[in-house]
Amino acid sequence: MKVKLTDLTENERTYKGDLDPEMFELVDDGDLIAKGPLRYEIHVCVVSEMLIARGRLEAPFAFRCSRCGDFYDEMVRDLDYSVALDLDLERVKSGVEGDDAEHTENDRDGVLRYVEKGIDFVDLTPDLRESMILRFPGYPICAETCEGRCPKCGQNLNTDVCSCKPEPADDRWGKLDHLEVKQRK
Ligand SMILES: [Zn+2]
Ligand SMILES: [Zn+2]
Repeated sequence: MKVKLTDLTENERTYKGDLDPEMFELVDDGDLIAKGPLRYEIHVCVVSEMLIARGRLEAPFAFRCSRCGDFYDEMVRDLDYSVALDLDLERVKSGVEGDDAEHTENDRDGVLRYVEKGIDFVDLTPDLRESMILRFPGYPICAETCEGRCPKCGQNLNTDVCSCKPEPADDRWGKLDHLEVKQRK
């Protein structure tokens, strides 16, 4: 999502649109599927040479449930997205000589304009991606009531019961509670 620097002023400008789900650059690890575009509505302005962006983001995903292993759909939202970018810093990062920057300030109509040779845009896409990924569930479950799977036969207990007998309580992990951990010196 590119913001044209020369379009920015102290007054907020609203950007709305969709970004192709490829922008998430997800590794296909079998636990997560991007199911549609990232939808954004972002208000951008410049304050004290900082680019300020805030708004809301949402995109549909399918996550693999940690209990039953089935995929379920979840809309991931960041309703409180915000970022402040130092424009000069951004320019240096982009490999353009900072001294080439022509920085004009038009005080007569109270509007700041940023003009620079070489760089017309700031791309917010990497920051949008990061913000969304931070909103992914750490322990995805399809429902609070998910019954998971039978540890013996693997039957999804949400859809059917199986005839396995319940296992007697396994005490192996209980012993860990009493284990004293010796510290290495
Ligand atoms: Zn589940
Ligand atoms: Zn079973």
